[in-house]
Amino acid sequence: MIVLVINCGSSSIKYQLYDMPDKKVLAKGLAEKVGGDGSFLTHRRGGEKFGISKPIPNHKVGIGLILSCLTDLNMGVIENVKEIGAVGHRVVHGGERYSGAMRIDQDVLTCIEECCDLAPLHNPPNLIGIHECRNALPGVPMVAVFDTAFHQTLPKQAFLYALPYEIYERYRIRKYGFHGTSHAYITRRAAEILGKPVDSVNLVTCHLGNGCSMAAVRNGKSVDTSMGFTPLAGLVMGTRSGDIDPAIIPFLMSKPEYAKISEVDKMLNKKSGLLGISGISNDMRNLDEAAAKDGDDSRAQLAIDMFCRRVKSYIGQYLAVLGKADAIVFTGGIGENSPVVREKTAGGLELFGVMFDRVKNSDPAGAFDLSMPGSRIKVLVVPTDEEGWIAEETFNHVK
Ligand code: AMP
Repeated sequence: MIVLVINCGSSSIKYQLYDMPDKKVLAKGLAEKVGGDGSFLTHRRGGEKFGISKPIPNHKVGIGLILSCLTDLNMGVIENVKEIGAVGHRVVHGGERYSGAMRIDQDVLTCIEECCDLAPLHNPPNLIGIHECRNALPGVPMVAVFDTAFHQTLPKQAFLYALPYEIYERYRIRKYGFHGTSHAYITRRAAEILGKPVDSVNLVTCHLGNGCSMAAVRNGKSVDTSMGFTPLAGLVMGTRSGDIDPAIIPFLMSKPEYAKISEVDKMLNKKSGLLGISGISNDMRNLDEAAAKDGDDSRAQLAIDMFCRRVKSYIGQYLAVLGKADAIVFTGGIGENSPVVREKTAGGLELFGVMFDRVKNSDPAGAFDLSMPGSRIKVLVVPTDEEGWIAEETFNHVK
């Protein structure tokens, strides 16, 4: 079966076409600046790359262009869109309703709509993507795969904030957690690597990319996670603050510069994190370069150190929550590629039985097990595959 995976953002549409169940990627691509000037589509087939510079005024045109690339005589991989057997949609928020993927029907659409209040930047474009695909591919089954679903197993004591209980009842303010497809995928892969059934594996999973989150996984299920009511909470990220004292917000709002809540929101989401501390970049590679040039006292080095200290604190917290663990698992652009960050976060944890192997960590060939023989808790690098997970979930729902 041919499965199309769609990840629709406010101004972008990411797609991958799979041949299932082999999970072979037939083609993939990204439409950027949808609805703006200079819109652009990059389409890839195997090692070939095609760039299409064309106005994409809205998502409807974007989806149409993607389908025409997939069926194009020169760069396409299928003859007719009728060959697409199902579409899997990444949906950021499924609220408290969904703990797994769902075949999209009116009920599911209503729930996604209701969750727009909780994820105003993400769920509306996700919905547009679903509607446009339904219009372009009538009768083709669609499946929603939620970022929040994997964390629906958190116990109440972990997902509630210590606010008046009515606030949870009235507004559903609680920890939801995100990056669920990534944590779910690396949990399953880590279990395979460790040779254990997934429902008996205990892990601390670290998704470290531009957005960052961690999870404590007991018996294959998420029991705590660092992102919260929104993806702003937890770790230091590219431009997001992660955890701060909530009293900072009313304090800042008493100052003229931050009197407007929109300014505070922008500062916390777009101007903080690695970018805010370093004053240089939200990109870890740029910070590595700047720190190497400017030295240990530089703000680039400070940003890296703060980032790593927060990850390490969460590792300690989650090992304590779990009581026992098989592995600490790294993924995401930083987790998969930065030996410096891995050493600063998983090194020096002998107290917990983590014997980190610095030589394997620096191996340019990219070892996946970074622990010494006999380490009670292993340290693994597992490349994530969120699109592949969505394709599998979709295929399993419709096959
Ligand atoms: P992602 O959001 O998963 O694509 O990850 C993006 C982040 O990964 C950015 O901060 C990149 O700088 C970082 N990254 C990618 N490659 C490397 C690398 N070789 N070393 C350090 N950071 C990297």
